Amino acid sequence: MTRKDRTEGIFSRREVLDATERQKYYQIQLKELLSYAYRYSEDVKKRFDRAQFSVEKFRDLIDLKHVPILKKKELIFLQSMGPRLGGLLTKDLGELRRVFLSPGPIFDPEDRGDDYWGWTESFYAAGFRSGDLVQNTFNYHMTPAGLMFEEPLRQLSCAVVPTGPGNTGSQLDIMKKLRVTGYVGTPSYLMHLAQKGEEKGLNLRKDLYLEVAFVTGEKFSEKLRSTLEKKFDLIMRQGYGTADVGCIGYECFHKNGLHIANRAYVEICHPDTGFPLKDGEVGEIVVTAFNKTYPLIRLATGDLSYIDRASCPCGRTSPRLGTIVGRVDTTARIKGMFVYPHQVEQVISSFEEIKRWQIEVTNPGGIDEMTLLIETSGFKREEELLHMFREKIKIRPALKILTPGTLPPQIRFIEDKRNWD
Ligand SMILES: [Zn+2]
Repeated sequence: MTRKDRTEGIFSRREVLDATERQKYYQIQLKELLSYAYRYSEDVKKRFDRAQFSVEKFRDLIDLKHVPILKKKELIFLQSMGPRLGGLLTKDLGELRRVFLSPGPIFDPEDRGDDYWGWTESFYAAGFRSGDLVQNTFNYHMTPAGLMFEEPLRQLSCAVVPTGPGNTGSQLDIMKKLRVTGYVGTPSYLMHLAQKGEEKGLNLRKDLYLEVAFVTGEKFSEKLRSTLEKKFDLIMRQGYGTADVGCIGYECFHKNGLHIANRAYVEICHPDTGFPLKDGEVGEIVVTAFNKTYPLIRLATGDLSYIDRASCPCGRTSPRLGTIVGRVDTTARIKGMFVYPHQVEQVISSFEEIKRWQIEVTNPGGIDEMTLLIETSGFKREEELLHMFREKIKIRPALKILTPGTLPPQIRFIEDKRNWD
């Protein structure tokens, strides 16, 4: 198989719908899902009724914003509320194929249809092709990862070595003896395999036969990608998803963001209000997978990103998520402390001479530094402000006083400029 085979081609026609077709496709899928879920999921019915949302009101994609957001952490509570995972499921547990348990703890149901988790187009885009022998290093127990990432390989007629994680020595032996062509796992574990292989005196390009790698589950730098691609002489692409819904987005050969999976409708929303934001604005990824068995409508993932609709040379027309810029709940973790915007707001509210504020977090030399930017004129209570800040938030920031109008009109209260490379 030549390398060129892995860089081109489209798995499904849904990936190349034109703008009008795509709009229509989303509308039809969402309408069907909303109607079905309202009818068969007790929990959905309750939530729609409580929000006074009737499915007839859904005419255009923008109408989805009237459906209340479902926070991931609510699932833990909801699932304990009775049969069918608290009424979230539209069928009985015995009618499913599998039920997993992921950290939280949250149950993750898997129904019986093909490509339930929806990763097949993602694996194809990453470069997996029929006839590949693939080592899957994700865990096969309890959590869905192992079996979830085996499914697309079966769909694409690849063979799998289900190694799961660990046993690095054996993993390398297997790769060498069986001439494994594909890797599935985390980027850091692939790096670990590379290091251990080199320590053993393996020539990763000559003694091993890896040509393609699908990675997920971790943030990684472009530097790590290019290091691994060079070390093994392979193509490494990433996917993005969750244990609840499966695939949400994936990279194509051109690696310019994550094409939104055609099995889902994705919104970028304000983390507090759940209101959809404009293209390019950073907000929380809110996903609605077209899954009638387990209809998690408007599930807020806790991950922050933005939407990019520029065309991609690969020909796929789905909008893309930019990089995952952080977590809603951890972007404000500074020097090990959680800093929430509303706490800062409470402190600032005692100083009416402060018009606007923003917190900037950097990490020069790997150490967190927090700067409190305030817009004010003739401010004289600096020590008092810093003292109160320290009392309430347990961190003493550097203070930067700006003349009113300096900060851009739309800001994130906590601007995380830390560099993790
Ligand atoms: Zn593309």
